[in-house]
Amino acid sequence: MITTELSNIGDIIQNQRQFFETGKTKNVTFRIEQLKNLKQAIIEHEQAIVEALKADLHKPELETYLTEIGVVKEIDYAIKHLNTWTKPKKAAVSFDFFSYSARIYPEPLGVVLIIGPWNYPFQLIISPLVGAIAAGNCAIIKPSEIASHTSDVIAKIIAKHFDPAYIAVVEGGVEASEKLLAEKFDHIFFTGGTAIGKIIMAAAAKYLTPVTLELGGKSPCIVDSDINLEYTVRRITWGKFINAGQTCIAPDYLLVNQKIKQDLIDGLRKCLKEFYGDNPVSSPDYARIISQKHFDRLVNFLKDGEVIIGGENQPSERYIAPTVIDNVSLKDSVMQEEIFGPILPIIEYTDIAEAIALINSRPKPLALYLFSQNKNLQKRVLQETSSGGVCINDTVMQVGVSSLPFGGVGDSGIGNYHGKASFDTFSHNKSVLQNSFWLDLKWRYAPYEGKLPLIKKLLG
Ligand code: NAD
Repeated sequence: MITTELSNIGDIIQNQRQFFETGKTKNVTFRIEQLKNLKQAIIEHEQAIVEALKADLHKPELETYLTEIGVVKEIDYAIKHLNTWTKPKKAAVSFDFFSYSARIYPEPLGVVLIIGPWNYPFQLIISPLVGAIAAGNCAIIKPSEIASHTSDVIAKIIAKHFDPAYIAVVEGGVEASEKLLAEKFDHIFFTGGTAIGKIIMAAAAKYLTPVTLELGGKSPCIVDSDINLEYTVRRITWGKFINAGQTCIAPDYLLVNQKIKQDLIDGLRKCLKEFYGDNPVSSPDYARIISQKHFDRLVNFLKDGEVIIGGENQPSERYIAPTVIDNVSLKDSVMQEEIFGPILPIIEYTDIAEAIALINSRPKPLALYLFSQNKNLQKRVLQETSSGGVCINDTVMQVGVSSLPFGGVGDSGIGNYHGKASFDTFSHNKSVLQNSFWLDLKWRYAPYEGKLPLIKKLLG
């Protein structure tokens, strides 16, 4: 581990402030070079990244490429669009401002802090970093200590390829976070649980630091009867059990039209066998639970309802089989807390109004999934529910579309990122209004006598 003495945090920030003040990061060519540098660093260390994720989460190599190293797509997207994003944008002015011109200049915020979680521990640090670099900031990143191998690799890569006065890594757990949060930053970008999100926001409030909070919650997945069952089952199985369910936008629970429920359960059973074999513990394609604490938390959920698929577990391996639970009560802990593991409760409904009412009675989720070909039903669910994002007839794939802002609403988060949204998150939009000297009408100057009718006319 590359240790950063926590007592040095003040110095790191001070150095970054000095670096920022040189104005180097404002240069668009510099930013593009740094994005290319980041991409190159990732490619150079691909194998170490794969190994670290294998050690932390038993993450299959394909999943690591798809969901972690795949972040290079975000880098390419930023490089491609950066010249356009950074250009001042002309803003319209009304007729009474005819001698003025208005422009919006995106400018970097300064020194930003990025704190990451353990579930996609590489991607969820690097992806916001792309936005921070693109927008011209210096950044301090704190990966999750729980995915310690990945934290280590991130620290090594960044130390090797970047000047710490520009991008620095601080490794560690709560103590490191607290030391960082005691300092003033120009933005804090946090990905993690809702409870810690509140701590981050409270710490940021002290300095009026703006925050982006990418949080979690229970993302529902509605399954109507008007579907292609085979595809539905495959897409749900993949989205739920990739990374052993430890995905912030995994379908947390299913709300299934009772007409299709038995077929769906039979389909899930068959599909799980296809994906992971008769005994998923020996599948090379199935991840493990990150820690003993989370393993114990998840095993506790198995007491709720009736396990109809899976349920097997091995503490020594931190393995929990892909599991489906029926007959759960909304009061069961599995339906009260975010599951964040390979356990899928099924709740049936007879009328879509019941499913919508259940969703609306709970905190707004990060993602909402709907499987249905019925256009009216799609429209109704979109209109009558609120969530960070929606994906219709698929799961999780919305995260891979750079043109879609990604983030929560209500308890699932504040702000968003990906693509242009990342650039905006780490930029300040500076409004600039310019007048000319070719005339100076006196309607706003004292003495005001006789000018009120004109003002009233202008405002009318
Ligand atoms: P967490 O909130 O426990 O930890 C996240 C980060 O906060 C870590 O770096 C950790 O060291 C730090 N931290 C922990 N306690 C702290 C404290 N008291 N003060 C300051 N910092 C502290 O989250 P986690 O367990 O790593 O991740 C799981 C959660 O993250 C889930 O709720 C999941 O839904 C959510 N998540 C959200 C997204 C998203 O994009 N919205 C993505 C991944 C995970």
